[in-house]
Amino acid sequence: MLPSELLIRLQAHEPLLWINPQIRCQRDSFDPTAVDEADRLLRRAGPLMARGIPEIRPEGLVESPLLEADALRDALAGSGRWLLKADHQMPLAGSVKARGGFHEVLEFAERVATGLGWAGDDFAELGDQPWRDRFAEYRLVVGSTGNLGISIGLISRMLGFRAQVHMSREASEWKKQLLRDKGVEVVEHDGDYACAVKAGRELARADSQAHFVDDERSSSLFSGYAVAGRRLAAQLAEKQIDVSAENPLLVYLPCGVGGAPGGIAYGLKSIFGEAVHCWFAEPVDCPSVLLQMAAGLQQAISVYDIGLENHTLADGLAVAQASMLSCGCMQDRLAGIFTVSDEALSEYLRLVWTVLAEKLEPSATAGFAGPGWLADSAPGRQWCEHHGVDVSRATHVIWSTGGGLVPEAVFREWLGA
Ligand SMILES: *Cc1c(COP(=O)(O)O)cnc(C)c1O
Repeated sequence: MLPSELLIRLQAHEPLLWINPQIRCQRDSFDPTAVDEADRLLRRAGPLMARGIPEIRPEGLVESPLLEADALRDALAGSGRWLLKADHQMPLAGSVKARGGFHEVLEFAERVATGLGWAGDDFAELGDQPWRDRFAEYRLVVGSTGNLGISIGLISRMLGFRAQVHMSREASEWKKQLLRDKGVEVVEHDGDYACAVKAGRELARADSQAHFVDDERSSSLFSGYAVAGRRLAAQLAEKQIDVSAENPLLVYLPCGVGGAPGGIAYGLKSIFGEAVHCWFAEPVDCPSVLLQMAAGLQQAISVYDIGLENHTLADGLAVAQASMLSCGCMQDRLAGIFTVSDEALSEYLRLVWTVLAEKLEPSATAGFAGPGWLADSAPGRQWCEHHGVDVSRATHVIWSTGGGLVPEAVFREWLGA
């Protein structure tokens, strides 16, 4: 049951910090060895990826830099060490969706090729024309608020597959145009993101040559996201940053349906255990994961059920109903969730451009409020005390999830210039 005090504050669009009671996980149906397999597949597929994406040659690893963000910390009066995990710089897709999306499409490519007699040792040869011609008989289908469609669409086209992306009519125009320009079929729907997902799922079911990438349920996406845990661990080690109970890692992740941040948090917890604390950030009008986790997982609940409208500037986070796969895995792993107003997102977007010269999209800035919640709010300070966390000794990793492909004119509009 949802506490009525929380319900009232959610309905008032009041930015708030929710602490997860961390109920022992009942529905953790995700197999942890899937993350090892995803890691291996992404490495094996490196030579194929490198053929299509020149900037990641020679080894073909799709990864983003971990940027120093002390200037951001100083501007927001924070403490401790601040880093920006710059997934807006992810090769090809320009967002966090490259992690899950590329993994699922590569897995599909491997399955198709194996079914057609491929020996499975040299991924690079799947980039040859005869293979591309065969892949052209298959189709990837996905429902998306935008960035997952871009990730799936671009990697599918790169490998020679056809791609069809289902989006809501109100999804951003430049994302639709970009997809069409790359030869991806875009299908628009009158309803919201969930309607687009449902339409795509049904259409793909009727087509034996199609594979549907299910943002609400896919464990292939989830395991691709989870590989980020070991990638970040390597980057922290490179910077000689110690992660321990005394020097904890605090990670702030923008959240829509919960798949990307859930997978990343899963991967981080499996590596750092108690030394990492993961927080999700959701827009005040679309707190789908907060609502589902606070209400319990027995029954699905959407933000429409409590009178919210799922409207936000953060189109990548405009999701009314959470992924149950993610919520199940987060029950005993997630520290908590905070909500963010659209005004704050715009301010952060301008700020990060001013102090770090990084171009983000509004969704990607949702995590910036995190360190402030822990240092300056009563529930945040209480949480820190209870967990023995000193924010001034912590490493704060703010996950910047997208914006790499935003056209200049759209970005200028956001800046208000
Ligand atoms: C999709 C997306 C997220 C959140 O991922 P979910 O899997 O929907 O929770 C965050 N930021 C950006 C920019 C995104 O595109």
